[in-house]
Amino acid sequence: AHLDRIAAVDEAVHAFLHVAPDAALAAAAEIDRRRAAGEVLGPLAGVPIAVKDVLVTKDMPSTSGSKILEGWIPPYDATVVRRVREAGLIPLGKTNMDEFAMGSSTEHSAYGPTHNPWALDRIPGGSGGGSAAAVASYEAPIALGSDTGGSIRQPAHVTGTVGVKPTYGAVSRYGAIALASSLDQIGPVTRTVLDAGLLQDVIAGHDKHDSTSLRDVWPSMADAVRRADVSGLRIGIVTQLDGEGFQAGVLARFHEALALLERNGAEIVEISAPSFEYAIAAYYLILPAEASSNLAKFDSVRFGLRVNPADGGTVEQVMAATREAGFGPEVKRRIILGTYALSAGYYDAYYGSAQKVRTLVQRDFDAAFDRVDVLASPTAPTTAFKLGEKLEDPMAMYLNDIATIPANLAGIPGISLPAGLADEDGLPVGIQFLAPAREDARLYNIGGALE
Ligand code: GLN
Repeated sequence: AHLDRIAAVDEAVHAFLHVAPDAALAAAAEIDRRRAAGEVLGPLAGVPIAVKDVLVTKDMPSTSGSKILEGWIPPYDATVVRRVREAGLIPLGKTNMDEFAMGSSTEHSAYGPTHNPWALDRIPGGSGGGSAAAVASYEAPIALGSDTGGSIRQPAHVTGTVGVKPTYGAVSRYGAIALASSLDQIGPVTRTVLDAGLLQDVIAGHDKHDSTSLRDVWPSMADAVRRADVSGLRIGIVTQLDGEGFQAGVLARFHEALALLERNGAEIVEISAPSFEYAIAAYYLILPAEASSNLAKFDSVRFGLRVNPADGGTVEQVMAATREAGFGPEVKRRIILGTYALSAGYYDAYYGSAQKVRTLVQRDFDAAFDRVDVLASPTAPTTAFKLGEKLEDPMAMYLNDIATIPANLAGIPGISLPAGLADEDGLPVGIQFLAPAREDARLYNIGGALE
């Protein structure tokens, strides 16, 4: 049914870069066979899943939305892909994304944009717009995304889906094509909170292939959803993310959701986080610095594309010609920014200062979580904007991430939940909750209460 749905709507939505119908049908038949043989399978066995193209897959191309990796089929599965296959989930294909996960609209994909199923002339969010659009358009019931500065949560917000960025280190990054290693985290994109909890239960857990992977034994997130009890829960509204710069219809749905939680026994307080004002500036130095280093491996020798200059050229000229042809403008912009910020003499002024701001953001969270159990804000300032609207203005695109970036700087978990439609445009609005590191279950519990 999902393959039929993809065939019917994906020409218009363009959520997928690659669909694998034969492998999916074979995997489904295998699950049927095991079930018929009396094997007891997990709750998600047989459920199709869409996989963001940032994750490497041994039987499907993995491009991270870039021309430089066009046609590359990796020799191994990312740990999360291996785990979902072992749990009996059936990969349907790979979803579109901004090139190397840089963007908030999926317009920076080298393979053309994804369209928001709610309004095809609108962005589906980014960088994981493909996964969110696949789920919102019923092409897949559940998907995997990656969140470095909001790429799971902001697409969830603009497509009326559920998106979770787990605690940094909860889910393995092995086989996730790195954007910024200290910020990247893999997580679920779903239509219901319970689906997200079930998926996080499958993908979380220690992996010896990822040196930042936590050794925690996690409680069941699905159980946290089913608990759905917010009585006595203290929720802090972040003052800096509740007013200026936010669309009226977004704020209206946000406050309605909070009022509902209050009626169910939660206590709402105002919390100031003064350093959040500088979080975007710090992120857009730390991220390009790490990305410029991570992307150095795309050198025309080890992976993907190779462009030979007409006259042959030196090794350096081959690398330069390949990177010139293989990377899009946003990737080049960030490589230049990142190498500049890391260069001798500028390191303290830019990267060093950004790291200090990162610590201040973490301290704001520490102080907040002394007073409340979770923090709340709209997930992003506006509903889905029009395709093309911010493409020529990188600053406007970056400012979209104001509410999502602080969680990545601090390594804490965040969830975006559907909160209804904005009055002015009838488009989806998301509400975001953030919890202290390792307290992902609190977010699922709130999700259960709001669903
Ligand atoms: N919009 C953010 C950026 O462009 C999000 C990135 C992400 O989470 N992958 O960096």
